[in-house]
Amino acid sequence: MVAENSVTMNDLIYPIFVEEEITERVEIETMPGVYRVPEGSLHDEITEIHREGVKAIMLFGVSHHKSEYGHDTWAENGLLSRMIRTAKNAAPELIVISDNCFCEYTTHSHCGVLRDGQIDNDLTCRNLSLQAVAAARAGADMVAPSAMMDGQVASMRAALDEAGFSGTPIMAYSSKFASSFYGPFRGAAGSELNGDRKSYQMGHLNGREALRESLLDEIEGADLLMVKPGLPYLDVLTRLRQRTLLPLVAYQVSGEYSMIKFAAKAGAIDEKMVVRETLGAFKRAGADLILTYFARDIAREGF
Ligand SMILES: [Zn+2]
Repeated sequence: MVAENSVTMNDLIYPIFVEEEITERVEIETMPGVYRVPEGSLHDEITEIHREGVKAIMLFGVSHHKSEYGHDTWAENGLLSRMIRTAKNAAPELIVISDNCFCEYTTHSHCGVLRDGQIDNDLTCRNLSLQAVAAARAGADMVAPSAMMDGQVASMRAALDEAGFSGTPIMAYSSKFASSFYGPFRGAAGSELNGDRKSYQMGHLNGREALRESLLDEIEGADLLMVKPGLPYLDVLTRLRQRTLLPLVAYQVSGEYSMIKFAAKAGAIDEKMVVRETLGAFKRAGADLILTYFARDIAREGF
C-alpha cells in the first residue's frame, strides 16, 4: 500500500534484433537468451511475444544490404519497412516502435553520412527524415531517432507532418551517451566500427549537456525523451524529470543486461530479484517507460 512506484507490462518495451537472409535464429554469445531472429520467422516470433504479454517492441535490423549511406532504410521494400509491416500484421495491437539510425545499415557503421572522416550532420538529418516517413508508411506506431544529430527531431517532425503522419509520435534518444555499455549490442546488430561516436554522442562526464540535448529535442517537437544507457545515468533521468513534463524513457542497454546475466550465471546474484530492483530504480528515478531485454522473461514469469 505504501509503495511509491510500480512496474507493469504497460511500462516495458522489448527490443528485437531481426536479421535478413538467415534461416535459423542465432543466440548472441555476449547476451545469453537474446537472439537474432530470422526475418522469415518474425511473424511467428511476434505472435508469440504478444501472446506472452509484451505490449511494445522496438525493432533493430541486422542488414545484409549495407551501403555508404544506408539507403536500404528508406526503401519501401527495405528491411526496416518489411519488419515493421510483418510485426504489425502479426499483432496489430502491439505497439511497434522503429529505431531510426544508420549504424546497422552503413558499411562504415557510423550513425550517418560520412564525409572525409566526419559525419555530415545535416545530410544525415535529411536521410533520417526519409527513413522516418518510410517507417510511418510501413505502419510504425512511433519513430525513435537514435543518431544524435543536431536538429534530427525537427527535421523528422516536419517530414512526417508533410507526408500526412502528423499523428506519429517521436521518441527521441535525446540524452544518448557514447558508452562502453553498448558493447554486446554492437556484436548483436553488426555495427562495430573503427574509432568512436564521440563527435555526436554525449561524453559520460557531462550531465548538464545531456539535459540541454534533451530539452532541445523537446523544443523541436519530441513527444517522449530518452536517457541511454540506464543505470549509470539515473542522475540525468532524475534531473530531466524535474525539467520536463514529457514522458521519459530509460534504456537498460545490452551491457547492463549482460552484466546481470553473467553475474547470475556465476551464482553471484539472483537474476530475478536484481532485474526487478533495477526496473524499480528506473521508475523511482523518473522513467515512465523502460526499454529492456528482460521484458519477455518478465511477461512469462510475472513481477
Ligand atoms: Zn546509430
